[in-house]
Amino acid sequence: MKVLKFGGTSVGSADSIRSVLAIVTAAYQAGEKPLVVLSAMSGITNLLTQMAEDAAEGKPFESGIKVLEEKHFEVVRKLIAVKFQNPVFTKLKLFFNEIEDLLQGIYALKELSNQSRDLVVSYGERCSTFLVSKIAEQHLEEALFVDASHYIKTNSNFGHASVNDEITDQLIRALANTNADKLMFVTGFIGSNENGRITTLGRGGSDYTAAIFGSVLNASAIEIWTDVNGMLTADPRIVKKAFSLPVLSYTEAMELSYFGAKVIYPPTMIPAFLKKIPIIIRNTFQPEFEGTVIQFDSGKTSYPIKGISSISDISVINLSGSGMIGKSGFSGRLFTLLAREQINVVLITQSSSEHSITFAVHPDDARKAVQLIEAEFELELEANKLVRPEIENDLSVLAIVGENMKKTPGMSGKLFAALGRNGINVRAIAQGSSEFNISVIISKIDLAKALNAVHDAFFAELKKTLHVFNLGTGNIGSTLFKQLENQHDFLSDKNDIDIKVVGISNSRKMVFSESGINLGNWEADLNENGIDADLPLFVEKMKAMNLPNCVFIDNTASKVPSSYYEDIFRSNISIVTCNKIANSGKYEQYKSLHDTARKYGVDFFYETNVGAGLPIVRVLKDLMMSGDRIIRIEAILSGTISYIFNNFKDDASFYDVVMKAQELGYTEPDPRDDLGGVDFMRKMLILARDAGHAIESEDVDLGAILPEACLKADSVASFYEELKKEDAYFEALKAKAKAENKVIRYIGKLENGKVAISVQLVDETHPFYSLSGSDNIISFTTERYKERPLVVKGPGAGAEVTAAGVFADLVNVGA
Ligand code: ASP
Ligand code: MG
Repeated sequence: MKVLKFGGTSVGSADSIRSVLAIVTAAYQAGEKPLVVLSAMSGITNLLTQMAEDAAEGKPFESGIKVLEEKHFEVVRKLIAVKFQNPVFTKLKLFFNEIEDLLQGIYALKELSNQSRDLVVSYGERCSTFLVSKIAEQHLEEALFVDASHYIKTNSNFGHASVNDEITDQLIRALANTNADKLMFVTGFIGSNENGRITTLGRGGSDYTAAIFGSVLNASAIEIWTDVNGMLTADPRIVKKAFSLPVLSYTEAMELSYFGAKVIYPPTMIPAFLKKIPIIIRNTFQPEFEGTVIQFDSGKTSYPIKGISSISDISVINLSGSGMIGKSGFSGRLFTLLAREQINVVLITQSSSEHSITFAVHPDDARKAVQLIEAEFELELEANKLVRPEIENDLSVLAIVGENMKKTPGMSGKLFAALGRNGINVRAIAQGSSEFNISVIISKIDLAKALNAVHDAFFAELKKTLHVFNLGTGNIGSTLFKQLENQHDFLSDKNDIDIKVVGISNSRKMVFSESGINLGNWEADLNENGIDADLPLFVEKMKAMNLPNCVFIDNTASKVPSSYYEDIFRSNISIVTCNKIANSGKYEQYKSLHDTARKYGVDFFYETNVGAGLPIVRVLKDLMMSGDRIIRIEAILSGTISYIFNNFKDDASFYDVVMKAQELGYTEPDPRDDLGGVDFMRKMLILARDAGHAIESEDVDLGAILPEACLKADSVASFYEELKKEDAYFEALKAKAKAENKVIRYIGKLENGKVAISVQLVDETHPFYSLSGSDNIISFTTERYKERPLVVKGPGAGAEVTAAGVFADLVNVGA
């Protein structure tokens, strides 16, 4: 036989009771004779407790009786045929009158003992179970209402009574024997002491009742029907990616339900464990969900841990001092003291030097714990052998749980890497000697972020979510959004990355959305829902949202954002940028940014600073990391200049070619910004720095393309005039190239730590000879690539390729 236990929400309304009966009937018709255990209707235990407390304080409680009546009577009206209703109303009314009498007594005495409280709340289970048994009786005439308080015998620890197994065993066996042909509906939660006084088994104790009956009657399974899909990998209200677990061991279920997830009452596991009876957690509201099976062994899964649990509010007490060193029995004294006073210690860690003990308790117990310690260790405190204990509040415990952990090395490493990367400081660590559980204490404000980051780290087959804050919605920003939108499904299916843009700002407006901004509609969203742009506020907001795996993208050309980079790194947020300003300013700034990013374990990616979408920065980094030595780097990193020299041939004058380039939009509004070589110089500077040279922009030997007069002209128009006048100079260059069978190139070179950029004539043996259009090219001559340099070539400008480069950097964050 099976035991089926239904919780408060399952019997909370006429509709849900219908589902309960469908489940029971299905089992019954399948040849099972289940034993059904029920909770009080949802909310009723709390209501009864409140009424008892109100009565004891002399407050009115009558309205509560009304609520009780309405809740139960409505079900009678809906689910019991009119001709059978009267006796049910009468019996329930009798229950309510008894409750009212009890409350009157409490009201008169202004006193509420645990014993009276248990008696009052016991009516919750008695009413619900009686009611459901009567509804069932209409179709299943074997239905029988059983008040478990006659069969579960306990001690007199009211509110939390312990069961006397021996007597209970006998009584339940006798009950089952005399009612072998019945379909029993049994009250959960309640028992009675040796004098027949009603006791309760602790909040949530109906599960325990089910396990007691299941164990005595050797049930094949104990099914706990609740309102969620079993036990999950984490709290789904905080971790959206949490998923249901198919199998858990008793120990794992115990650890997971002890911290957080109140899916099952932990003591329930014990009787089941002793008899190896599986507990199956199922969902009344989704009966097709197969359930979480809690059984003897933990089963095979592909994940190293089963789940992550947490306690959101905890206080930590730290005890330290020389008086503890080598004193055996010190911690014994401490924890015996706390146990005697019923202070539950959630977690303990002791440093190996024995110089300090840190332990965590419920915040309500913290003050009392400290007082007890101060009294117990008065002498040690006075002699300064112990430092006065202090309480730290606003902390949380996060624990990873799983039996397979002990077979898998690196579990704590993974945990701490995920926390560290996200800037979550760990206050204390405890690993149970069983290795089923590694717990850390962290700040309460970091809990949600920590749970998500750790969940992402351990359930790696699941998608990783990147939270993106994007600055700049110009050409590159808006193209990136388009690409992100188009690629979203591909990335999420093939690469298991879910990219959520959670903040966007341009120079006018900014908008945020924790669930992700719809990139199909970002512009309207920004304009309609955005607030006034404010960069400091944007950065603050980014920190305050405190999301895991955050990336800040600077898609602007402005100087301002770079002054925030360090602060952003210090908040453990990675940066991806196409903006060169930060890397090409003072070397000191370059270095400090890179150091800070490294120190905080975040990424700083700027591939597009050098050749738009071309892999240049990454290639250089890979070469250096693999121990290769850079001998020389040569490059053409200006698409505009490339275009101009590539077209400066035959009859075309230099003037015409520059004009044409401008018309085609290949140049800056003032073409001298390109031809002056400053942009090119910045790119070479960044490469040189990445190659390990501490150089400044002044150190770059920047050769000029244009004669003095062109550079000095005070407007774009007069620049063109001067350019026309210099025709002879350029024609001579062209003629010389032609005569020597060469082409004109503007080439940057890094060698021996020096950077020079100059106009050169190269022949067809040179790798840059055949460069066409506006392409960029770079060649790395290294110890390994000495004979034939490693060459990267391709389009080095344009919104589409640049945005793609930013995209590639983004996808690599945290990889
Ligand atoms: N009705 C009791 C409670 O709410 C017992 C239970 O539901 O398991 O705690
Ligand atoms: Mg309950």
